[in-house]
Amino acid sequence: MSSVDWSILSDFLKRNDRIVLTTHIRPDGDALGSEVALAHALLRMGKDIRCVNTSPLPPRYDFLDPDRRLLHHYQEGGQSNFLLKDAQALIILDLSSWSQLGRFGEWVRQFKGPKLVIDHHVSRDPDLAQNFLVDTSIEATGRLVFEAINHLKGKINSDIATGILTAIAMDTGWFRHPNTSAGTLRIIADLIEAGAPISDIFKKLFERNTLGRLRLVGETLTSLKTDFDGRVAWATVTREALEKVGALPSDTEDLVDYTVSILGVELGFLLMELPAGGIKLSLRSRGEIDCCELAGKFGGGGHRAASGATLPEPVDKALESVKQQIALMLKSS
Ligand code: 5GP
Ligand code: MN
Repeated sequence: MSSVDWSILSDFLKRNDRIVLTTHIRPDGDALGSEVALAHALLRMGKDIRCVNTSPLPPRYDFLDPDRRLLHHYQEGGQSNFLLKDAQALIILDLSSWSQLGRFGEWVRQFKGPKLVIDHHVSRDPDLAQNFLVDTSIEATGRLVFEAINHLKGKINSDIATGILTAIAMDTGWFRHPNTSAGTLRIIADLIEAGAPISDIFKKLFERNTLGRLRLVGETLTSLKTDFDGRVAWATVTREALEKVGALPSDTEDLVDYTVSILGVELGFLLMELPAGGIKLSLRSRGEIDCCELAGKFGGGGHRAASGATLPEPVDKALESVKQQIALMLKSS
């Protein structure tokens, strides 16, 4: 059980009917699974729900919204404007900082209605919302959504169970990371009983690689390097590499995991050139180094073991900056 006081959500729902749900830029399984599950649950409770996200739905997660009716891509002047026009309230899932909202942050800043965050990240911008329903000890936002729906006495149907299982599975690395507990697996058992097809979900997530994605894995592995006596590893994904193999930017998800799969590596990171310029940094720690603190040096954040940030420099400069900060952190530890 989390430490969240769910009566705040009950009160919020008593006062608001037309509610927008959103989640973070470059959404992952926890972001999208949580959003879809909460949307289904609130729709069943008679609420008018619109899900509007900064990023489009990556093909990997298309099974979460098979009819393409639930999730909308935020585009100024587009259909999302119509959906947002008479919104009363906003629920933000799986993020607590402005930088993670991307362009949709512009709409959120000018939106005058009540805002509520459901999240498990450490970094927080206090002016993002009035209510933060956050527990950083919880493995996935999806688990918080599971608790929320139970508190609201909602029924967990197979759509909701599929969303929550995807959320928890992806934020625990398919139940391998240290944040996987007996409690995690008890909830997974409940979700399977509620109709989540676990084997089918695994196939959807991990056995629908494109050739482009697999060739990108090859390119990324070729770029792997280590330093600091083998304690740190990194890889780079350039725009050129993406184009060469015909991969999508969302195909870079999880590639950073290869860096920390090397024996002796305590910290791994990936530098990805973004389509709009700048570099996305992904950090993973398997030791004492606090990724969130390191990401914070570049205006980013996340969790102790997994964090990210966006850097404005070209890739070689960004690499130097990151290595410099790592050297300082290793020296002081
Ligand atoms: P990833 O490296 O997979 O994109 O992100 C790892 C974790 O760090 C995720 O929980 C993600 O939400 C968080 N994260 C990634 N980039 C940023 C960022 O720029 N700012 C903040 N605050 N968190 C980030
Ligand atoms: Mn998450």
